Amino acid sequence: MLRRMDLRTTPEQDMLREAFRAWLMEHLPWPYGVGLPPRFDDLADTVAFGRRWQADLAADGWVGITWPEEYGGRGLGALENYVVIEELARARAPELVGRIGINLVGPTLLAHGTAEQKERFLPLILSATELWCQLFSEPDAGSDLASLTTRAVPVEGGYRVTGRKVWTSYAQFADWGLCLTRTDPAAPKRQQGITALIIDMHADGVGVHPLVQSTGEAEFNEVELDDVFVPDERRVGDEGAGWTVAGSTLAHERGINPRQLVIHSQLIEELLRLAQANGSFDDWRLRQQLAQAATEVRLFQLHNWRSLTRLSKGEAPGPEGSALKLYWSEMSKRLHQTALDVLGPASPLWEGAPGNPDDGAWQRSWLYYQASSIFAGTNEIQRTLVGERVLGLPRG
Ligand SMILES: Cc1cc2nc3c(=O)[nH]c(=O)nc-3n(C[C@H](O)[C@H](O)[C@H](O)COP(=O)(O)OP(=O)(O)OC[C@H]3O[C@@H](n4cnc5c(N)ncnc54)[C@H](O)[C@@H]3O)c2cc1C
Repeated sequence: MLRRMDLRTTPEQDMLREAFRAWLMEHLPWPYGVGLPPRFDDLADTVAFGRRWQADLAADGWVGITWPEEYGGRGLGALENYVVIEELARARAPELVGRIGINLVGPTLLAHGTAEQKERFLPLILSATELWCQLFSEPDAGSDLASLTTRAVPVEGGYRVTGRKVWTSYAQFADWGLCLTRTDPAAPKRQQGITALIIDMHADGVGVHPLVQSTGEAEFNEVELDDVFVPDERRVGDEGAGWTVAGSTLAHERGINPRQLVIHSQLIEELLRLAQANGSFDDWRLRQQLAQAATEVRLFQLHNWRSLTRLSKGEAPGPEGSALKLYWSEMSKRLHQTALDVLGPASPLWEGAPGNPDDGAWQRSWLYYQASSIFAGTNEIQRTLVGERVLGLPRG
């Protein structure tokens, strides 16, 4: 159901924004509002830079502000989190390198983890001292995740895990992985035999093999698990309750998406700057495409605000997250196509103007966002969810 949006901020939220903006002006490693984060040829250098930047933010309490204070958060709400994320976008800050831990694993541990797990893992997620990966997808289990076959055999004091995971983002840098395993192959329903375990990515038997993407980078990996021992205290939730645990993770992955809003707000600003500089506004077709792209990013912001209003009233994210995912991924592809049109017919060869820090960045971004209709659940699956759960159509 569509909700009336409340776009007003409280004086406390305005003060939070001002305090964070002042912090950014003082601590940002490039000039506020004009500079850009450094770009590195090697992903490992990008990750190392990202860890230092996130650690700086976390040291002053600017990461995970919705988390409870005892784990390093500020105990604030979704709207305050949005304010912080908006300010990061305004400062043209890079994505947080520990985003899988912050956005997916942390909220899952808060909902299902033991007190010991929360104490042990959560603060180190915020400071990027430890990075995480999400070990869900397998070669034969993506959209149909419940068909996963990675086996966890109960043994004295824990489990022995054997199987193959794939498309695991940042596994080569991760210290821990949240892994879905099958503990009971004979369970009457496939979902009932699944258990969530925390895998030590440095343990014996863990093999990580980077997969090169069309961008030329290897952000994701194939992960081999060969008889890896996982102690009982690293099980998240009860044995057989892994499907519920996974539901929490996926709800956060598909729900309200300030991260993509940050990225696309930055992208549209860069694109308009570029178009201004190379005279694209003089071409009426490009002008229309640019107006369309800018309008769509603004609409995405409004969609996010509607979901935020809902969250701030204590309501669950709901299936509208699927509509949001569909919207932003298609918006992203159109925006990137417009960027290449602005660069002109030679865009696949474009290396930027001399001294332009964006050398090849749009081409890389275009290639990367072709995957936006696949990751976090494919668009076909999102359409089914919207059809069944939002529109109430009969199940297929
Ligand atoms: C950049 C990127 C990063 C990723 N990072 C991670 C990660 O860190 N951890 C992780 O666990 N996974 C990750 N993934 C995997 C991602 O979650 C899966 O790719 C996705 O769920 C789809 O699964 P699949 O690739 O097995 O495709 P499949 O499920 O085999 O789908 C193939 C095609 O069939 C369609 N299809 C399948 N079932 C249906 C159906 N019922 N109705 C209609 N159409 C259907 C799909 O929409 C798709 O077009 C990542 C993927 C990408 C692209």
